[in-house]
Amino acid sequence: MLKKPIGWDGKTLMEMLNESEKFIKETKHYYGIDKLALKEKDPFNYERAYASLRGALVSSRETALHISASPIVKEIGELCFALYTPEGDSIVVSTGILVHVHTMSEAIKFMIRENYEDDPGINPGEVFLNNDPQEGNVHTTDVQTIIPIFWRDELIGWAGGVTHQIDAGGITPGHDLVAAVSRFDDGAYYTCRKIGSNDKIWKDHMINAKRAVRTPMYWELDEKCRLAGDLMIRDALFDFIEREGIDYYKRFIREAIEEGRRIVQERVKERLIPGRYRAASFFDVPFKEEAWQPRAKMDKITNEPIEIIVKEDGTLFLTFDGASGPGPNPMNCGIGAMEGGQWVLLTQILIYGDKVNDGAYFAVEKEYPKGTWCNPGDPYLSYQSPWGNLIPAYTGMMKAISYGLFSRGYREEVVPGYGFTGDAIQGGGIYSSGPLKGERWMLSTFEISGQGLGASAVKDGLDWGYAMWNPESDLGDVETWELFQGGIPYLARKIKPNTAGHGKYRGGANYAGIAMIAYSKDVDFFGAREGLVFHGAGGMHGGYPHATGYRLYAKNTNMKEIIENQKEYPLWDPDPEHGEFEKLLKGEIVRKAHCSIYPVLLENYDLVHFAMSGGPGYGDPLERKLELIKKDLDDGIYSNDKILSIYGVVANYDEIKGEWIIDEKATETRKNELRNERKEKSLPFNEYWENEKKKITEDKLSEPVKRMYSESLNLSIKWAKEFREFWKFPEDFQMEVK
Ligand code: MN
Repeated sequence: MLKKPIGWDGKTLMEMLNESEKFIKETKHYYGIDKLALKEKDPFNYERAYASLRGALVSSRETALHISASPIVKEIGELCFALYTPEGDSIVVSTGILVHVHTMSEAIKFMIRENYEDDPGINPGEVFLNNDPQEGNVHTTDVQTIIPIFWRDELIGWAGGVTHQIDAGGITPGHDLVAAVSRFDDGAYYTCRKIGSNDKIWKDHMINAKRAVRTPMYWELDEKCRLAGDLMIRDALFDFIEREGIDYYKRFIREAIEEGRRIVQERVKERLIPGRYRAASFFDVPFKEEAWQPRAKMDKITNEPIEIIVKEDGTLFLTFDGASGPGPNPMNCGIGAMEGGQWVLLTQILIYGDKVNDGAYFAVEKEYPKGTWCNPGDPYLSYQSPWGNLIPAYTGMMKAISYGLFSRGYREEVVPGYGFTGDAIQGGGIYSSGPLKGERWMLSTFEISGQGLGASAVKDGLDWGYAMWNPESDLGDVETWELFQGGIPYLARKIKPNTAGHGKYRGGANYAGIAMIAYSKDVDFFGAREGLVFHGAGGMHGGYPHATGYRLYAKNTNMKEIIENQKEYPLWDPDPEHGEFEKLLKGEIVRKAHCSIYPVLLENYDLVHFAMSGGPGYGDPLERKLELIKKDLDDGIYSNDKILSIYGVVANYDEIKGEWIIDEKATETRKNELRNERKEKSLPFNEYWENEKKKITEDKLSEPVKRMYSESLNLSIKWAKEFREFWKFPEDFQMEVK
């Protein structure tokens, strides 16, 4: 006997999804909704209904967080929940790491398209787990628990929760692996797997899952946290239906998404000017020396050009046409990652109202060209650290939209970009002494959730307080991180001078930390961030990009002796040219201009330095107000030499007063010098163009740059045509990589 379909009015879920897609294609409206009838009839009830669902999601998240959760989740809230329609479109979301809201939507749609309704079946009380970047996830580290919600015998929606793990059982310990080059290095994979029934997770799943990672306790805690939140959402939904009725609910969810779509359209019309907006962005993958695997030994730069078309009807078209290729590295991105990154930024710069849902997804048409890093179409590549490309790529979106905002006069909304939310120190080790001897510890520091934001067109950027993937950014307490990673206590956390991008308004600044390996053995250490290129699109209207990252650590040090004799040790690295490590330590001091490194083995008393990112600046530094520059000096945001060479400001430190005093007369002279220098150095465009072209024709570009352009030329006909036309090359021009 055939099973009764679980969709509405005797339909299967697949029929419902097809119908929904047909409606959006034919009418451009979600489910063909023309009139927001419920909202028009009784707006108060409609708004109350939406607010009650949103409240339920936020409180489910807050409660679940405290029931059980791993350190990253608990300390900085790396989780979020969402409620979906039967077809998998998000209706309402909680606070938290919003990057994941649309990702789970893709996972639900995958289950529907694969006809899970028939096999393995979708029944009340069942639990599904997903972490596959091919099916609506960012990387294996993000784990999603999704439950179907039934009212009588119909499926009325899905609740989903996602957390970011400390360890995913990959090639090395850690959560954003650098050394992964294929799917088989990415850790445990769960592709929309059924893992429970009767509201409980099956024991055999939990036994297997815990053995697949290095931190079984945290894995289990997070599974319980996500399921608890999902079940609370289901209860809240039942209350909602008791109150409002099932017919109201069914109409309401369609209207709420359609309203979400219209809000984007209205906001775009109000804030941007129709036209074509473009920005450039890059990321370096310097693995020629770093990689272990022979085929990964390659220095690459990723080309991440973005183009946004703002249409007159308020809809957006976004493309990464011209993107370079994927690679034998973990920075490849699946659609889930691309959608997630885009979604979370749109909620921050355009659609920050209360109706944040998949309406925004339907309002933006997008193109991720097949065969590029943003849509490789190869499930066997590694997708473990897609953030490497994702973070810089979407600074371009922020900048492109900022040009629109500026043109409309929303100067305060302008953001040229953000700091690189990377260089989380990563790895882990085993306690070699103390009460936890033999236990594993993982680096779970998630300070990367507090980066510098770019300056706006009216004020400086936010210092140490921004993460592109989590609008509720929080760098967390050192004490909490130390509790979970006892093998690497902090020695210092201090403001790091010269991280902020220069400008009339400077970018957000940041700090750096130093930590020491202790009480441990077998410690793997690694990290990743931009180092050889400026990530993102840099500053705006004359502003500078922020400082790039670099790598600094010390092995075989004399820290034991220093500690025993209570001598001075490095607390920071304010001036890398005259390093504190070199001055105060004996041992092997490693400095690398690039920041992404493969794991190195560290031992007790070895030191690591890690710097968070500043944000890009806005406007000409010569126009920065002197009182702001004095404050920058007093606060240690910039060093005096940079103030002199970039801002043209002469300042002297008053030892007695303990503050910087600006010499206004000398400053005026210095600024005039800089203005003259600019005049002397500047070239007419034609001359500049000729010089740049010679770098191509005389083969002066470095190998990674040539490789990048060669890939882009081969992957896009349109981009290649524009490139060749701009540089006046013949139609068959190619970039040769020997
Ligand atoms: Mn993650």
